Amino acid sequence: MSRSGHPSASSSRSRRRRWLHIGLKGKIALLLALLLAFIILLLSILVLAGIREDQRARMEQSLAHQADAANLRVREAYLTGERVTPKAFMEQSGQRLAVDLGGQSGMAVTLYDSDGSFAGTSLPIQPLTDVKAALRHTAQGQSAYITQGEQLLYLAPLYNVDELLGTVQFHYSLKEQNDFYSQIRRLFIGIGAAVLVAGFLIGYGYVWRQVHVLGKLNQAARDIGQGRYLSEPPALRKDELGELAQGIYDMSGRISSYVSELNEEKQKLLAAIIRLQELEQQQKQFIGNISHELKTPLTSILAYSDLLDMYSDDPALLEHARTQIGKEAERLYALVEKALQLSAMDVYEFETNASRVEIQPLLEEALNRLQMKAEQRQVSLTSALCEDTAWVDRDNVMHMVINLLDNGVKYNRPGGTVKLSNRSVISDSGERSVIIEVEDTGIGIPQELQERIFEPFYTVSDDRSRDTGGTGLGLPLVRSLAAKQHGSVRLAASGPNGSRFMIILPGDPPSELETH
Ligand code: ADP
Repeated sequence: MSRSGHPSASSSRSRRRRWLHIGLKGKIALLLALLLAFIILLLSILVLAGIREDQRARMEQSLAHQADAANLRVREAYLTGERVTPKAFMEQSGQRLAVDLGGQSGMAVTLYDSDGSFAGTSLPIQPLTDVKAALRHTAQGQSAYITQGEQLLYLAPLYNVDELLGTVQFHYSLKEQNDFYSQIRRLFIGIGAAVLVAGFLIGYGYVWRQVHVLGKLNQAARDIGQGRYLSEPPALRKDELGELAQGIYDMSGRISSYVSELNEEKQKLLAAIIRLQELEQQQKQFIGNISHELKTPLTSILAYSDLLDMYSDDPALLEHARTQIGKEAERLYALVEKALQLSAMDVYEFETNASRVEIQPLLEEALNRLQMKAEQRQVSLTSALCEDTAWVDRDNVMHMVINLLDNGVKYNRPGGTVKLSNRSVISDSGERSVIIEVEDTGIGIPQELQERIFEPFYTVSDDRSRDTGGTGLGLPLVRSLAAKQHGSVRLAASGPNGSRFMIILPGDPPSELETH
């Protein structure tokens, strides 16, 4: 039982759901149609009822008028004739008077005497309609109607002062009235149907336009939801729907800019994460490298100290071991110092105490510091310096120049030169930069390795580096120092006849500082 009940319940639910899914256009159209039909129906009923009422009032008035005229005529005949009883008068004159009154009123007329018996008629034959009930009314001085198909019988009493003479009956044809009424009704049905159709079409067209705009707004909202932002308002109108469309458009603009801001932030965050991962990787590599680099000189020192223990009476070995241990210790020292400096720069917010620095004396001092080492390696230091100032940290610049001069000497040939020079250049945007160049006549760096020399621990030739106390940390340190001072360093040229390194530093403070 219950099983058979389910399908019908669910089908009625789905019917209801289908009804609910009739779009706004359909619902409003249906409502409009019902409303129009109701109004037209109501109007028709009221107007037709009015017409009926008017017809009835006119007819009553006309019949009452005819009844009065008939009364006058019959009374006149009664008074001017022989003195007889009303009944006898009606018997004698009823037929003649009925024909008279028929001619006078333009209607068929039948007369009855005061007892309700037939007295005469203008019709060719005596009418058969049973009017007894109506005659009872007229006997009491009232008029009465009887409707028979398209004919109305109007009965009215005839009087001589207080004396009832009889009853006059008019045969009133309703055909004309009924035809007129039917014609009007047909007109109403025709006009009503036309108004209904036209009104519905006009109304539906108007509703369609409004609902069409709603459809556009709906689509716009869906587009925004799917990340397709609007390039123009979904509808241009000067009403509430227009305001709504403008509101949706403004909202779309704001969401779009929020989303792009968010995306930008996301990109930045992703870049920062990638950078952090790279840094972590670099740090791991750095620690791995430095452990290895620290072990090499230490192993060497340990080996020599073992040798010293074993052959302490060999003066030649003693001398060799002393030099080697000294060399390795120096290398160890340089390595530790540079490594600490480099990692400190990565980890801490490096302080650059920038100030206006006279470049020429600084470079001269750097040359002095390297003079001894250059002489030992039979390399001559030359310079082409000019007076100039830069907005830098003096110690850092000294560090950078010494590192480059040191490399120029280390990777040189006996009899070679290292030249130090400086100059100023002004960029298109009007910013002044100070350029310091270190040019040597050394062994040069092969083209394919030029990019890599700025990587930590990278050395072109391990043997030569070790020999000269190199660590592979000098150039990375120079690059970090330059970057921290808003400058840069690069290998400007290198070949079998030497290399030229270029440091570029800011000539003046950033504009906001200068104004202070
Ligand atoms: P190092 O302490 O080994 O000198 P650097 O970082 O200063 O380390 O230099 C990295 C490598 O670049 C060096 O090992 C060397 O092979 C190469 N190099 C640096 N400067 C010069 C130069 N002026 N001439 C030739 N090679 C150089």
